[in-house]
Amino acid sequence: SPTPSPNFLRSIIETDLAAGTHARAGLPPVITRFPPEPNGYLHVGHAKSICVNFGLARDFGGRCHLRFDDTNPAKEEQEYVDTIIDSVKWLGFSWEQPLPDVDGVRVHLHYASDYFEQLYLMAEYLITAGFAYVDSQSAEQIKANRGDFGKPGTDSPFRGRTPAESLALFRDMRAGKYKDGEHILRAKISGDAMASPNMNMRDPAIYRIRHAHHHRTGDAWCVYPMYDYTHPISDALEHITHSLCTLEFQDHRPFYDWLLATLAAGGFFAQPVPRQYEFSRLNLTYVVTSKRKLRELVDSSIVSGWDDPRMPTIVGLRRRGYTPESIQLFCERIGVSKADGWIDMSVLEGSLRDDLDPKAARATAVLRPLKLVIDNFPAGQSVACSSPVHPHFPERGVRTFPITNTLWIEREDFMEVPSKGYFRLTPPSGDTPGSRVRLRYGYVVECTGFDKDADGNVTAVHCSYFADSKSGTEGSANYKVKGNIHWVSADTALEAEVRLYDRLFTDAQPDAGGKDFKLTLNPDALEVVTAYLEPGMSEAQADQRFQFERHGYFVADRVDSRPGKPVFNRITTLKDSFTK
Ligand code: ATP
Ligand code: MG
Ligand code: MG
Repeated sequence: SPTPSPNFLRSIIETDLAAGTHARAGLPPVITRFPPEPNGYLHVGHAKSICVNFGLARDFGGRCHLRFDDTNPAKEEQEYVDTIIDSVKWLGFSWEQPLPDVDGVRVHLHYASDYFEQLYLMAEYLITAGFAYVDSQSAEQIKANRGDFGKPGTDSPFRGRTPAESLALFRDMRAGKYKDGEHILRAKISGDAMASPNMNMRDPAIYRIRHAHHHRTGDAWCVYPMYDYTHPISDALEHITHSLCTLEFQDHRPFYDWLLATLAAGGFFAQPVPRQYEFSRLNLTYVVTSKRKLRELVDSSIVSGWDDPRMPTIVGLRRRGYTPESIQLFCERIGVSKADGWIDMSVLEGSLRDDLDPKAARATAVLRPLKLVIDNFPAGQSVACSSPVHPHFPERGVRTFPITNTLWIEREDFMEVPSKGYFRLTPPSGDTPGSRVRLRYGYVVECTGFDKDADGNVTAVHCSYFADSKSGTEGSANYKVKGNIHWVSADTALEAEVRLYDRLFTDAQPDAGGKDFKLTLNPDALEVVTAYLEPGMSEAQADQRFQFERHGYFVADRVDSRPGKPVFNRITTLKDSFTK
């Protein structure tokens, strides 16, 4: 794995380690967590958070918990839990300790819903101690009384409720005596909390009534804790040391600290309690990273599903052909900081190419086929040609494929009337003979003519070959040609569906400034072609990656490939097409 570069989070951890800030018997000095809400599929932005949290834990000999923040019963489902677990594993991270902890715990997969009872009891404590009250205003009243930035709010008429009265109401809320929205439980932070310049400190809601089925706790609860209440407590219960989140949570930190300090003073937690630190979220050009917007693309059938290879979801990137290592490399390259900005898509693609180049076996594919007939090549004859599986790793062996008198070449490798600097196949014209090119790993040929149909479309190109020009033989040195094209034998080629993907949006910042991202969809984000591949490609296994020479990197689609009949996705072109 790449050498980690310094960043402000590493510095904080190093300082804490040196000072022994979080030293506790039987626990690692660094415990982080990745806390997704199971309400959608993970995307490349989450990958950054995963790499930050699991990566720091790994680098400092700590551990990272995968915790489902599953406190909103309406939007959460087991399907999402399963895919998130799969995605984190696929990215290469583990929440299992090689050895059991002192307390016998080995697997650090957690669910906030496992803490419902503890969360509830702590809420009762807060009420009893005067730090929370039941508010019976309507949602509209609460909103109106909250004030605004620069404008103080108004105390709720229920703020003065006695703890006994609030406690009785809260117990009745839990017992199911009220409808959704009839009451909520709010924190009571200080006398003038409703004038706090931080809106999150104006007596935030900590429990609400929701008569809804929860994917794990079923119908056991009809009151559910709010995220801002659940999150700090879950962190503290799990002995998290560094709670790392994105910058939008900076304004939530005062409540995080207040809540844990209050509960620690009440004897629920030992000091030191977890500390929250924020870093900037990933914004990637030509991509939207918001579960809600990605869901819109799925629900409106703009893409084929969460794992459509154009989606920036982890399942989409995986199906597209991205490797876990390329995503980790990308996260290492972009680093972490507090500076908001956009990362260019070329950084992600560059990481991908750097990872795939040494790994991917080479192969030949003709994507837009045109027939090439070698008129002086004996019909029925077949000569074996070979080339390395990988040009830099001879130990990986060679692949062989036959040359015959009829081949497929790329349509763009022939030009009836050549433009300046065009060195591929061109027909004889006047006194000028047809051009000569090398059929890569085969022979040198000279173009002799072409056929056209009634509509003027070129249907075949004709050439003759030089029998002593075969690549790898002595005679080949006598032929100096400028053009070098790839080909496959029409007799043995594997016909295959190849999907050519492009960016999903034409606008580099599809949703910046509240724009409707659906207005900048790229209509050419998917082109499906019937291609001819070298015969060995029939053995390609799902998820196997190749570099199709001159075209880019391709993967056998993990969903649609069948034994002997792979379907390929273009992962990326060979060169950067994103920077203009
Ligand atoms: P979305 O806005 O896409 O719904 P979310 O933040 O609501 O994402 P969560 O499931 O709560 O989704 O995210 C889990 C973690 O991933 C959070 O700690 C969040 O900060 C982090 N995260 C989400 N999006 C990004 C991003 N674009 N860059 C970095 N981290 C992210
Ligand atoms: Mg969230
Ligand atoms: Mg969100």
